[in-house]
Amino acid sequence: MSYKVSLLPGDGIGPEVAGAMKKCVDATGVKIDWEECIVGEHAVKKFGTPLPESVLESVRKNKIAIKGPIATPVGTGFRSVNVQLRQALDLYACVRPCKYYEGTKCKFPEVDLMIFRENTEDLYAGIEFDINTKEAKDLITTINGMQAKQIRPDSAISIKPISIFNSRRIVKYAFDYAVKHGRKKVTAVHKANIMKFSDGLFLRTAREVAAEYAGKIEFQDVIVDNMCMQLVQKPELYDVLVLPNLYGDIVSDLCAGLVGGLGIAPGANIGENMALFEPVHGSAPKYAGKNMVNPTATILSGVLMLRHIKEDQAADRLENAVRAVIKEGKDVTYDLKPNRNDPTAVGTQEMADAICRKLK
Ligand code: NAD
Repeated sequence: MSYKVSLLPGDGIGPEVAGAMKKCVDATGVKIDWEECIVGEHAVKKFGTPLPESVLESVRKNKIAIKGPIATPVGTGFRSVNVQLRQALDLYACVRPCKYYEGTKCKFPEVDLMIFRENTEDLYAGIEFDINTKEAKDLITTINGMQAKQIRPDSAISIKPISIFNSRRIVKYAFDYAVKHGRKKVTAVHKANIMKFSDGLFLRTAREVAAEYAGKIEFQDVIVDNMCMQLVQKPELYDVLVLPNLYGDIVSDLCAGLVGGLGIAPGANIGENMALFEPVHGSAPKYAGKNMVNPTATILSGVLMLRHIKEDQAADRLENAVRAVIKEGKDVTYDLKPNRNDPTAVGTQEMADAICRKLK
């Protein structure tokens, strides 16, 4: 049997890490018919848009996709293609495992966290009004007329919607995962002490869902700033984390740092009947085209994809091969060497080749 998968190589280091992932997944023997889609900066040059409709059509048709990172201009320019993909395909659950692999620069070998980030709303919704626009002025006038706290006229505004529907389905997803995978505890992360309505609603909904799992899975909630401190001091106390979109984005990079860096942190974006896999890291433009960066995060995203299509044996073999290469510490990229300037560090493609050689 062969699977059709949309492959979005992306920008910057994307094509290099996506190519390395493709090589490793193919080497497992699972037959994949890759449908390559141009997105990001390459698509702007070719089609005048970073996300052509044909890309969405490909993912909707194949229902499985894997992508490299896609760059987003900071402060100006087009909106994030990554966010557009998640919203347009309703990939509501962002799943980011964070675990220790022997050989990485990890100070916490006990870490084995699962992060579930809501993927469609919150400040990430992209509902914004720029300074001095008619919309921003009207909004400021309306809001200033509704309550005592006054928004300054020289403000830009970003809206933070949090709904019961989206909070419920991400929290439920986290609990169902915990039950299915023998996890013990779910921690909801929020700032409901300050954002009493939006984060308050997320927390209330999380408590309601938790009650449905009482006796099976333990539940606690932690305020996001405290959570950051707890994670860098005693991450072993945590098991499954569930967060609204923005906190999920920040905390998952923090957790990637705990287990050895962005180079090894994979991710998945899951919807009702579709899934898109991608590394947590971005397009790292300064390394683009240098065959230098670590392909592990994208290869492990490939492992998540293999598990999603129920090719568990191939997934285990590929994960074990990655584990073996990192543990050996010889054919690894600069970020996995004790010293970043180590001349024995290998390139992206050479590390992928070493992983293929370890596949049994
Ligand atoms: P980044 O993740 O691209 O890079 C930050 C740093 O992390 C790099 O300079 C590098 O030191 C390290 N790093 C990242 N990937 C690595 C790898 N595979 N191996 C070794 N080291 C690695 O973050 P950034 O510089 O903030 O963002 C660059 C661009 O990526 C921006 O345009 C941003 O919008 C985009 N981005 C995209 C995604 C996505 O596609 N999902 C995610 C995050 C950022």
